[in-house]
Amino acid sequence: SRRPLIAGNWKMHLTVAEAVQLAKALAETARNCPDRDVLIAPPFTALAAVCTAVAKSTLLVAAQNVAWEVQGAFTGEISPTMLTDLGIAWAIVGHSERRQIFGESSAMINRRIHGALGNALHPILCIGETLAERESEQTFTVLQQQIQEGLDQVTAEQMRTIVLAYEPVWAIGTGKTATKEQAQEVHAFIRGLLTAMYEKAVADSTRILYGGSVKPDNIDDLMQQADIDGVLVGGAALQVESFSRIICFQ
Ligand code: 13P
Repeated sequence: SRRPLIAGNWKMHLTVAEAVQLAKALAETARNCPDRDVLIAPPFTALAAVCTAVAKSTLLVAAQNVAWEVQGAFTGEISPTMLTDLGIAWAIVGHSERRQIFGESSAMINRRIHGALGNALHPILCIGETLAERESEQTFTVLQQQIQEGLDQVTAEQMRTIVLAYEPVWAIGTGKTATKEQAQEVHAFIRGLLTAMYEKAVADSTRILYGGSVKPDNIDDLMQQADIDGVLVGGAALQVESFSRIICFQ
């Protein structure tokens, strides 16, 4: 069975002091719910301070992106070894905001996945269709392409350390959550795809998170779906009350 993973993506929010304060409060929440993994992804500027602040807790810390090279002339990028140097073990890769606003291609995202895997980081690979793609019934085609290109040359062995996050673009920051049936349908499709690409054991053990307007009032329904193994939360992960409620889903 798959251990639930509740992840908060703080995006481009919070000062160092605010990030440390929130992280400490969430470490306390995580301690009270020990049967699930809890992860936060602060902005790069707060990573070092947050890592130090929660080092003795069970809280997992992720970067919001990662470069594919370990060093060199890559202005504006942060390398996987710079992250492991801080004690970080996780990195979000291919978030729709990276794809859409910053033009990251699937090839680039695949390089980032290998950069993470080659340096002992667990990638959280994000995928998701736009509203136009859903309305033109391309959802499954788009997701299949994003997954196959994102996971190109990734072995079954490496799949043990990867988490997938399905985040329909139309549900991010819009207050429009996919219904639990819509989300479950896509998660089941993704698991089927993993069976075809790898084997059933890989598909059965891979955690697939849902993201997009996850809130305290929809978390319990989402987590009851057979193929939803956790969530990747944006807005509601920025407040201790709402994210604690999500962490402690029933
Ligand atoms: P919201 O929860 O704010 O919709 O953001 C979801 C997201 O993009 C998490 O990565």
